Amino acid sequence: MTAAWQLESLGRGVHLFRWNKGFYLSTFVVGDRGVTAIDPISDAAAVAYRSAIAQATDRPLARIVYSHDHRDHICGGRVLAASVLESGGHCEVCAHETAQARIARRGDADVLPPTQLLGDGAVIADGASHIEVRYFGPNHSDSNLLFLLPTDRGRMLVWVDGIEPGIAPYRNLPDTDFAGYLHTLEQVERLDFDCVVGGHTGPGERHWVADYREYVLRLLDATHLEYRAAGGQVPLPGEDGVAMTERVRGEVTRAAATHLEGRFGHWSGFTQWAPQTADRILSYLITGN
Ligand SMILES: [Zn+2]
Repeated sequence: MTAAWQLESLGRGVHLFRWNKGFYLSTFVVGDRGVTAIDPISDAAAVAYRSAIAQATDRPLARIVYSHDHRDHICGGRVLAASVLESGGHCEVCAHETAQARIARRGDADVLPPTQLLGDGAVIADGASHIEVRYFGPNHSDSNLLFLLPTDRGRMLVWVDGIEPGIAPYRNLPDTDFAGYLHTLEQVERLDFDCVVGGHTGPGERHWVADYREYVLRLLDATHLEYRAAGGQVPLPGEDGVAMTERVRGEVTRAAATHLEGRFGHWSGFTQWAPQTADRILSYLITGN
């Protein structure tokens, strides 16, 4: 049986907490005045996350930062901050303003509401620990904050669900603004960093950003090519609209994925997910979004 969680130190106060159930990963940083913890994940994960932090330091939790608004990363804040809150202490909860708005609209009782907004250019500094915050607009969600932090392996980029080293882009890119994702990948390639971690895997080397961008651009080209070759959405004799849509999309996206097989076929999830990602891209080609 594998352990439920693991702790890894990257130096300069930066740590990774791996929650094996569901393969989640959160980065936390130990500063002079306390701990900055990204993404509590869930109530169950937060119990283990608390143990991981306690194993790394006896300093208190100073703030929780949400990487983006998706519930599968940001529940459990109350559990993570329990000892601070119960002793009457204060724990900041930081997020981008669109995350704050979405969380407020949902009214989720199991998500601690953000108390502090972060935007592009913000810096969370505490002694030797230093977290630069970047925001490039909508990509994986419309609320993704990216983080740059010094570690013993060089500067590390944190982009939760944006880059997951070793794994193909997830399924049909749920909630992703496709054009915004391409824009952000381009912006991120210009940043100064040495390694990258997501919210599930990593750290991987810097080239994962260029690899992801190449993957998405090549799949865009291949999907466009195959859709044109199929002649768009033309029904066969006797075929209704639903049958035609499913036939054309199935054929186009399967064929598009094969164009990438030689270069990316060894990536985990490629076989299952590349056709689904092509389907998301086909919607982008048809609707512009
Ligand atoms: Zn997400």
